[in-house]
Amino acid sequence: MFVLNQNYLSKKEGFYYSCPWIEHGLVFFPSKITMCCLCGCEPSKHIIVQDNFDGDNFNIERIFKNKNKFRYFHKKGKIHTNCMNCPFLKLEAWDERNYIDSLYISHWLPCNAKCTYCYSNKHPDDFSKKSYKIFDIIKKMFESGILKRNSKILFGGGEPALLDEFENIISFFINNGFQNIRVHSSGIKYIPCLERGLTENKIHIVVSVDSGSREVYKKIKNVDCYDIVRQNIKQYAKFKTSSGIANVSAKYIIIPGVNDSISEVDNWLMANKEDCLSYTILDIEENWYLDNKDNVPQHIYDLLNYTKQRSIEMGTKFELYERIERLLY
Ligand code: SF4
Ligand code: SF4
Repeated sequence: MFVLNQNYLSKKEGFYYSCPWIEHGLVFFPSKITMCCLCGCEPSKHIIVQDNFDGDNFNIERIFKNKNKFRYFHKKGKIHTNCMNCPFLKLEAWDERNYIDSLYISHWLPCNAKCTYCYSNKHPDDFSKKSYKIFDIIKKMFESGILKRNSKILFGGGEPALLDEFENIISFFINNGFQNIRVHSSGIKYIPCLERGLTENKIHIVVSVDSGSREVYKKIKNVDCYDIVRQNIKQYAKFKTSSGIANVSAKYIIIPGVNDSISEVDNWLMANKEDCLSYTILDIEENWYLDNKDNVPQHIYDLLNYTKQRSIEMGTKFELYERIERLLY
């Protein structure tokens, strides 16, 4: 539903409020295609562009028709209720041509971890349907010029190491010059097909460890795989770019009450240093964030600032994922 909101009325000719995902983004989830993956915005409020999707009924004209509907209403200051107040809405002279340059692939289910915070725990219905094949869809989108070579490609999950088309898809992207691929993995199973992309600076793999110790890892992931995950991170980090960057990150999702202590963060930072990582990446647990975003305790801000400071001291690039970034800015 689109609702008129005075804050989004544009007074500038040719400008209107929109976001990169409305304009040129696409997300493949189990049984549906959505506009964006902004899970941290409002739970269960994805903007569906195609429901009951089974892989065979892909209809790009329908998707672009949907995007054009958004443009039509947003130009009138009528904003989709699920987008209202989203920090990604910006007043710009958007490029209204129909193409995709942000693709989020998150349509499969199997995983070798059982994270307490996994999206699948809270949305079992989304995961009750059969998975589908996506490689042919990607090839067709690229070959018809719809999917741009300069696209941002993101893999969500399930676990990519368990996706049977994963190696073919990665080879396809690398061979066709895609430069901006981010893979989220549990890190439990090593994925050799990523090595070339890491060295060529085309792929960044993000392994969520969320801990600096075996005990806390096990509590969060419900599997006893801390050592193997750290070993795999270390192995990925050997495939540095020509300028010496390790395109692998050990992401830390802060889960208040579980891993929000300075000592746990310190152990994690130390392990990253030992593995010669180039990035420090933080996020915050989605369900906690949605319940507490207007009342965040001071010690979370302190932890954030402490990690940022330590990252600077260690010479690593500090990155915040969207949710936690919104707490700071
Ligand atoms: S919720 Fe935000 S990111 Fe998602 S489509 Fe709407 S404005 Fe864009
Ligand atoms: S690694 Fe990702 S997909 Fe697997 S259980 Fe954890 S959150 Fe879920």
